[in-house]
Amino acid sequence: MIPILSPTHTKALIDRSRLFATTAFDRADKADATATIDSTLWSEFHRSGLAMAAFPERLGGSGLCENERQGVLCTVLRMVGAGDLSIARLFEGHVNAISLVCRYGTEAQIASLAIDVADGATAGVWGADDAAGLTIVGAGNAAELRGRKILASGAGFVTRPIVTAKAGDDQLMCLLRLALDYPVDLSGWTAQGMRSTATGAVELSGIAVGGDEIVGVAGDFMRQPYFSGGAWRFCAAHLGAMERLVDLFRDHLISRGRGEDPYQLQRVAHCVAAARTARFWVEEAARRFGSDDKDASAVVGFTNMTRMVTERSALDIMEAVQRGVGLPSFIRPSPIERICRDLATYLRQPVPDLAMSDAARSWLRSSVSVGDF
Ligand SMILES: Cc1cc2nc3c(=O)[nH]c(=O)nc-3n(C[C@H](O)[C@H](O)[C@H](O)COP(=O)(O)OP(=O)(O)OC[C@H]3O[C@@H](n4cnc5c(N)ncnc54)[C@H](O)[C@@H]3O)c2cc1C
Repeated sequence: MIPILSPTHTKALIDRSRLFATTAFDRADKADATATIDSTLWSEFHRSGLAMAAFPERLGGSGLCENERQGVLCTVLRMVGAGDLSIARLFEGHVNAISLVCRYGTEAQIASLAIDVADGATAGVWGADDAAGLTIVGAGNAAELRGRKILASGAGFVTRPIVTAKAGDDQLMCLLRLALDYPVDLSGWTAQGMRSTATGAVELSGIAVGGDEIVGVAGDFMRQPYFSGGAWRFCAAHLGAMERLVDLFRDHLISRGRGEDPYQLQRVAHCVAAARTARFWVEEAARRFGSDDKDASAVVGFTNMTRMVTERSALDIMEAVQRGVGLPSFIRPSPIERICRDLATYLRQPVPDLAMSDAARSWLRSSVSVGDF
């Protein structure tokens, strides 16, 4: 039986997350300007307990990957997203990697990852491929990776990534242990936002992969509802940034004495409604994802809808805040300027049209009333 995290433990974790998110917010401007991952902040991430939080309690974590704790994970992701979206991206990848290993890995793989993370390592999930893709060549003791990963966050920083690789027609997950000096190419990461995520290409050819590295069986990575349903986590990070933007908009209106203007009040009303709408959806998506008796296709459909609602809310909030604040929201180092750049960039997630249309199709083909979808 999974021990229930005590309310005191949960409160302490949330308090530490809030403190960490405040520090991340204070340092985000410098990290963005230098386009680097702040390693001292990352040490605080480890000291705060957040690095271990996704592991089960028996391994020193707070069980954030377990079903009944998805609501707590949602709160933590919102907080970190409100602090610095680049850090939230790295944190989300770290949590995703741990949850994949906990779900599909062996006890030995889970324990080895927990030991490394407790020792300061960071995990991530690198799935994106170039045209050639990452493959496993050879067999048995001679099996090794050939190729590279692209759009890998934390390149040069993450040392325990899960990478997806093809073996014939099969897709497998490999949990790697990389030395810190592995070759990376960050030259292509000239994105408008999310500059301090060290997102780049990583050459992996020649790395041996055997029983210790292969996690689960072919097809586990994209197994539903976890693959598409887990998208609620990046929505939670986006939501945190939206909430921060709306709070900053209020600070601006009050400090400039512009809050009583009817047009601004209309913008405020729309922003509050958009942020709260997204929150209802994201929290419900997290709750359904963590439900013990979930219907896989319903979870995927609801999460896909949540992606659409979150994206629309974020775009509406950014437009309202930029129009309501005006030019200062485009001038560095305004946090509004940075958050809008980061959010606009991080909103670009895979196949949004397909997510939306699959969700519509899934309801169309069902017989449930829309109120029960
Ligand atoms: C900050 C950041 C960090 C990232 N870190 C990682 C990481 O660590 N690991 C990792 O694996 N990935 C990472 N990624 C990549 C991410 O997972 C996605 O692969 C990427 O963001 C996809 O963006 P896209 O807009 O190019 O998506 P696309 O899916 O190409 O979508 C672009 C548009 O094309 C449409 N479209 C898509 N397919 C088709 C089609 N077949 N026909 C017609 N239209 C289509 C979409 O609906 C959308 O309108 C990161 C991305 C960002 C922004």
